[in-house]
Amino acid sequence: MKIAVASGKGGTGKTTVAVNLFHILSTKHNRRVQLIDCDVEEPNAHLFFESKQVGPEHTATQLIPSIDNNKCTYCRKCAEWCEFNAIVVIPPAHFAEVNPSLCHSCGACLMACEYGAITEHPEGIGTIRNYDPGNKGILTEARLKIGSAMQTLLIKKVKQQAMNDREVIIYDAPPGTSCPVVETVADADYVILVTEPTPFGLHDLKLTVALLREIGKPFGVVINKAGLGDRKMYAFLSQNQIELLGEIPFLRSYASLYAKGEMLRHIPDNIAGEYGVIIDKVMAKGSGR
Ligand code: SF4
Ligand code: SF4
Repeated sequence: MKIAVASGKGGTGKTTVAVNLFHILSTKHNRRVQLIDCDVEEPNAHLFFESKQVGPEHTATQLIPSIDNNKCTYCRKCAEWCEFNAIVVIPPAHFAEVNPSLCHSCGACLMACEYGAITEHPEGIGTIRNYDPGNKGILTEARLKIGSAMQTLLIKKVKQQAMNDREVIIYDAPPGTSCPVVETVADADYVILVTEPTPFGLHDLKLTVALLREIGKPFGVVINKAGLGDRKMYAFLSQNQIELLGEIPFLRSYASLYAKGEMLRHIPDNIAGEYGVIIDKVMAKGSGR
């Protein structure tokens, strides 16, 4: 089963929920789990484990075209075919160049060029690493190269690292509602939306709910920091018939363990119990119950 953990905004505790689900599924439920950190601009799930890197880091690449000025006739067809405005051709100046930061590696310009003036070469967009977090699970993360705009492509590549022997794959999605989130949840069987019971949380939850309904993904909501804020979130869930999977209470002592990176060492019983309930509900959906 593939489960994506997402939220409309940063700071709601999305990674906290993803990491706890991963940890409890691996240790208490004895499931073979892989956590894939798709927050490629800021992957931080591994910070919560005393994890060892497993195997070598490898570089994820994209194919970038380059133009051979000896063959180019400056006809501009490639620039016209490029939907991303990544090619500049100035015929009077005999200038033709690809801007790698705009290129999406779609290959259209190669098809367009009738003079064999375009070839492709790989360029790094980020790195991918696997970790052993010591809980029988596997943690995989991708880290975007500074300056690269290829979040979505890197997310696609890190998701290809999903292992066949895993019973559960958890994607920790980037925050927001843009293309990287859509790419993360695209093949998920179920999405857990993490929110907090505040006006900001409700505003961003509404955007994420609209997105998931648009793309037809089943989802439920986990309210983090329950006990803070007001009851408007609960009214919204009930009016829109959205399942509340569970509530993680706000505990100052647990928040300070989080801040020290030690939250998995001392999970309070009531919080562990709540994660257990969430896991049972979500796994039942995977088994069709
Ligand atoms: S299509 Fe080929 S020949 Fe025409 S401008 Fe582009 S690279 Fe040059
Ligand atoms: S590969 Fe696609 S995006 Fe990149 S320069 Fe060519 S046409 Fe544009």
